[in-house]
Amino acid sequence: MSAVKTFDPKVISLLHEKIKMIQTENGAIYLVGPIRLPVNLHGETVTFNWYCWLNCKEVTEDYERIIAKLSASNLAEFQQSSVLVYGDFQDADQALIRFHSICHTGDIFGSKRCDCGYQLKESMKQIVDHGHGALFYLANHEGRGIGLFSKAMAYILQENGYDTVDANLQLGFVDDSRDYSDAIKVLKALRDKPVKLMTNNPRKVDALVKAGLDLDDRIQLWGDVSEYNEKYLKTKIERSGHLGENKGEGCCNND
Ligand SMILES: [Zn+2]
Repeated sequence: MSAVKTFDPKVISLLHEKIKMIQTENGAIYLVGPIRLPVNLHGETVTFNWYCWLNCKEVTEDYERIIAKLSASNLAEFQQSSVLVYGDFQDADQALIRFHSICHTGDIFGSKRCDCGYQLKESMKQIVDHGHGALFYLANHEGRGIGLFSKAMAYILQENGYDTVDANLQLGFVDDSRDYSDAIKVLKALRDKPVKLMTNNPRKVDALVKAGLDLDDRIQLWGDVSEYNEKYLKTKIERSGHLGENKGEGCCNND
């Protein structure tokens, strides 16, 4: 049986209400949401509003055209980024945000080689405690933009004496190839007031401000130091410009 080519008008109207088109230099970002997402956060159920976005060359507000292309575009082969929004993110005077780079090993498996999993959960907790905020989960940022397979190879080099920065360079990558411009466009569609950014990485602050982020403060996010990530954290501080205010703390170059 072939897939549906024409859609039920009710389906299209339900989705139309929840999709927003954001025009970019190369096409458009289609942002879908909010979707109610109850999350287990340290044993308590907290409800976020979840949005996901997709880049497309075609620029149209006829979303049926976009939806019709999805079933043939094999989206599961590619990763999409998304954002968890909490509280009155659009209008609150102060809001906390984090741009979290995907870390398959840290976020999903709880790997202790980096502090990504800890930073992910801790930033969600701080957003909830603060009352208003958003966590951007950036799917094309694995291993600072080198991808999961290359990150596995970089880990092998690290097991043989290379630090995280050298390992990436030895494999032919630049140290950090992450781009935040789409995430900032999505942020601006959700809120146009300034935000407080959670990061330990001043270079990330520079990159974000250059890309148009309206920033009013930076909050650090150190923690979860162990024998497995000490060296990694030290590299972040010594080679990647991270501020190690709490001596010896911090972790995965992903921040
Ligand atoms: Zn990590």
